[in-house]
Amino acid sequence: MNDSGRNILALDGPAGAGKSTVARRCAQALGVTMLDTGAMYRAVTIACLRAGVDLADAAACAGVGRSARIVLDQDGLVILDNSDVTAEIRTPEITGLVSTVSAHATVREIMVGHQRAWAEHHDGGVVEGRDIGTVVFPDARLKVFLVATSHERARRRLADENAAGRSVDLDDLIADIDRRDQIDSQRAASPLKPADDSVAIDTTGRNINDIVAQIVAAYQGRA
Ligand code: C5P
Repeated sequence: MNDSGRNILALDGPAGAGKSTVARRCAQALGVTMLDTGAMYRAVTIACLRAGVDLADAAACAGVGRSARIVLDQDGLVILDNSDVTAEIRTPEITGLVSTVSAHATVREIMVGHQRAWAEHHDGGVVEGRDIGTVVFPDARLKVFLVATSHERARRRLADENAAGRSVDLDDLIADIDRRDQIDSQRAASPLKPADDSVAIDTTGRNINDIVAQIVAAYQGRA
C-alpha cells in the first residue's frame, strides 16, 4: 500500500491566501519540517532566465529544471546552483514569469519528483503549494485549501512589497494576483483547485493563531 502521505499536511490555495505563514506556524506547532514548493518553481524560473531559454519552450525549461540544483533550508534560504536567490525569487519580475514556467507538465514532473523525495527523506511534513493535495500527495493525512478575498490577498502582498522596500499600487497588485491565479487555475497540468477531500478555510480577517490551532487539531485528530 502506498502510505507516502501518512505524515503529510498539504496546504494549497491561491496567491496571498496566507499559505506560507500558516505552513511555517503549523510546522513549528507540530515539530516537523516544511516545504515551500512555490519557491522551487520560482528558483527554476531564475535558472531558465540565467540559461537564456525561451520560457514558453517546455522541453528547454525541463532541461534546465533537470540540471538545476535547488536547495531550500528551514530558515527560508533558497540556493540555486550554489548562489543565494532568496531575495530574487520574490521580485516582481520572477512573480510575473513563474506561472509560465510552472505550467509545463515536464517541469512539474521533475519538481514533483523532488517534493516526494523530500517527504520520504523527512518522513513527511507540511507541504504548501497549488497541487499538493490533488497530485503530489493525494493520500495526505490532511488537505487544507486556504482562500481569502482578492482585496485581502493584495493587501498582504502590499505589506510584503513595502517590507522589501518596493512601492506598488494596490490595484496593480490585485490585477497581478488575479492574472496569476487565472493562469494557475486554467493550465492543463495540475491546475490550482481544491482536492475533493480538502478542508476549505477562509483566512480573511481571521486571527493566525486560530487558523493554526484549527489546522493542527484537525491534523492530530487524524493520527
Ligand atoms: O506560492 P507562490 O506564490 O510562491 O508560487 C509561485 C508560483 O509557483 C505559483 O503562482 C504557481 O505558478 C507555481 N506553483 C505551482 N505549483 C505549486 C506551487 C507553486 O504551480 N505546487
